[in-house]
Amino acid sequence: MKAFEYYSLTKIIFGEGSIKEIGNLLPKGSNKIIVVTGKHSSKANGSLEILKTLLKSKELWVFDEIEENPSGYTVNMGADLSRKKKVDLVIGLGGGSAIDAAKCIALLTTNDGVIENYLNENNSPINPSVPIIAIPTTAGTGSEVTHHVVVTVGSTKKGYSNNEFFPKIAILDPSLTISMPREITVNTGIDALTHAIEGYLSLRANPISDLIALETIKIIKEWLPKVVMNGKDIEARSQMLYASMLGGMVITQTGTIILHALGYPITTFYGIPHGRINGALLPWVLEFLKDMERKRINEITQIIGEVTNFLANLGVSIKLRDYKVIETDIPRFVQDVWGKRNLTITPKPVTQKDIENIYRQAL
Ligand code: NAP
Ligand code: ZN
Repeated sequence: MKAFEYYSLTKIIFGEGSIKEIGNLLPKGSNKIIVVTGKHSSKANGSLEILKTLLKSKELWVFDEIEENPSGYTVNMGADLSRKKKVDLVIGLGGGSAIDAAKCIALLTTNDGVIENYLNENNSPINPSVPIIAIPTTAGTGSEVTHHVVVTVGSTKKGYSNNEFFPKIAILDPSLTISMPREITVNTGIDALTHAIEGYLSLRANPISDLIALETIKIIKEWLPKVVMNGKDIEARSQMLYASMLGGMVITQTGTIILHALGYPITTFYGIPHGRINGALLPWVLEFLKDMERKRINEITQIIGEVTNFLANLGVSIKLRDYKVIETDIPRFVQDVWGKRNLTITPKPVTQKDIENIYRQAL
């Protein structure tokens, strides 16, 4: 067996109604708190109001400017506020976008400069972040347990990992995910699936991440179709939130591979949701990898069945034309993907021509 490390720092609190525990979970000395959230959903589903009520004895600020695929600009604005107020705890409430933004704001509260300065492995922050509590309201990214963030800088999505990004506590309350409409449920559920699949194929996979990845795929195979049929099914919501968290535990160890890198430019250029485009590209990436990874891909398809059928049953097209992509986009997409760190942990050498070919086949 190959040598490996396993590292995680996040305490997990899982259960229906668990958001109500937050008052007992605050790290000692948390008095000045900023809640980082999106513009609409946490108000519409009442979760922001619940937090405000539970934390009414604290000094509380709400930064509700986070857009999908958060930009460096927005994150830096949030950090201006948290520095000015000298906050000692950051709560990320929402989907992966809000949680990633919260992680960045927590880092910038105690470190100078803008987030762009820190989005490369060579420039480490000097000071520890203020503690982060992550409360997901989608079931897809698993960001509540990862040390990754993804930030959009100009027209490029940049992933960055640092142990300072591990939330101290993740509160997973499935009732907060009930309000997700069908499309967001599908897209985020597929994101979680791709985390497990990419993690299982990553060069950084280890025995523990393998175990979690296969379990994640099993749960999603059973429960994603059910939750899409009935979004009010709390057991199905719970299973998907659990699977999403497991997917996050996988990619904390393994990272994501070429599939995530291929999806990023289509999200930034055409606004196609992250999980949706990962789903569209999944069969093409498996096809590309199958000569090197036949055994592992067989194990995956034994659980999930024919990947294209699974996606088709969820209404997900695997043709890029259906996502506005045209042939002349391909060269700039290739440039965006080339050099991404995801390629270095993909279990097959990747050339620029390979990237171009995958996009062409998927057109
Ligand atoms: P998202 O961008 O956070 O949210 C998508 C949409 O869902 C938003 O319009 C949001 O509305 C809405 N929404 C969130 N919760 C809802 C709820 N309970 N009910 C109704 N609507 C709800 O989507 P996401 O897929 O969770 O996150 C994607 C981001 O995470 C991407 O930037 C991706 O690159 C990143 N990511 C990070 C990691 C990591 O490890 N850090 C892993 C994978 C992906 P509001 O904006 O109004 O809230
Ligand atoms: Zn993802």
